[in-house]
Amino acid sequence: MKLRFSRTLALLVSSLMLGAIACSAPTTPEASTPGESPTPEAGGVLNLYSSRHYDSDEELYQKFTEATGIEVNLIEGKEEELIERIKSEGANSPADLLMTVDVGNLWRAQEAGILQSVESEVLTEKIPANLRDDQNQWFALTKRARVIIYNPDKVKESDLSTYEALAEPQWKGRICIRSSSNIYNQSLVAAKIAELGEAEAKAWLAGLVANFARPPEGNDTAQIQAVAAGACDVAIANTYYVGRLIRSEEPADQEVAKKIRVFFPNQDEGGTHINISGAGVTANAPNQENAIAFLEFLVTPEAQEIFAAANNEYPVVEDVAAHEVVKTLGDFKASELKVEEYGELNPKAVQLMDQAGWK
Ligand code: FE
Repeated sequence: MKLRFSRTLALLVSSLMLGAIACSAPTTPEASTPGESPTPEAGGVLNLYSSRHYDSDEELYQKFTEATGIEVNLIEGKEEELIERIKSEGANSPADLLMTVDVGNLWRAQEAGILQSVESEVLTEKIPANLRDDQNQWFALTKRARVIIYNPDKVKESDLSTYEALAEPQWKGRICIRSSSNIYNQSLVAAKIAELGEAEAKAWLAGLVANFARPPEGNDTAQIQAVAAGACDVAIANTYYVGRLIRSEEPADQEVAKKIRVFFPNQDEGGTHINISGAGVTANAPNQENAIAFLEFLVTPEAQEIFAAANNEYPVVEDVAAHEVVKTLGDFKASELKVEEYGELNPKAVQLMDQAGWK
């Protein structure tokens, strides 16, 4: 309690101070906060650089402002653009928090030196250790599972088991997957290098690539559509793309969703490969305390539910439920690998994918 109180007090004081600075600061970016926000009592702002763009996120920003008086200035962009922008803004960057998907991107941001370590008992207690950086430079806010999608007319569930088994000859010409330039695939391969070792991962990749139905093209949705259309029998994709198709108002999307099934691989092994979306406080954050307050807000049960449901992902905080549509995909054992390893092994993964001829 004591800690909580002093942190709140510190936040209030720093918010007041920074609120005053922000009025004259030339580095405050153009705010894109929609509508009229209530006048903050504690003052202060949070400059959020995010590659997310969901309507329900706006709702969360408003709730945060109502609870703390801190205004959220949202700057949207693609992850590489945001990382480059924070780098080039340097010491004068107004960015407080970088929010992005895939640990590979958070790792790149960390390597670029644009994040800082922060102390928060709330974050380290609520977010499992394998889903955050050792130095607390970034934290997972949602989990995403990368699974096997299959056509039940062509594949029996009992034919499926692991990612590794997809390298067996029975799958020749039957697998769709997006390109090796995609970070989700790079992270999956990095995880396999961590689990199997380099030599075995290399052999797996050779078999897997030999089984591709076509040269990689399109995103995860395109792979799922290809399974539904019969262009391939199985695909690898993130579950939230299935959630999107199910929740889509387009009848064509719903048709695709009806024609495919989700299989969670490696249930008798280390568990299904997961990745994260997450955020890190930037190295020169003018409003560091506000950024931490926002992260702490995002791990409250209410915020977790809304935040994960926005993209049909899984909450990172225990006992918070996923969206009901996501729940219909089934329960599964998730890999407990430290996601940080995907970042460390990313260059090796890219090299092995290239050597295997994965376009
Ligand atoms: Fe995605």
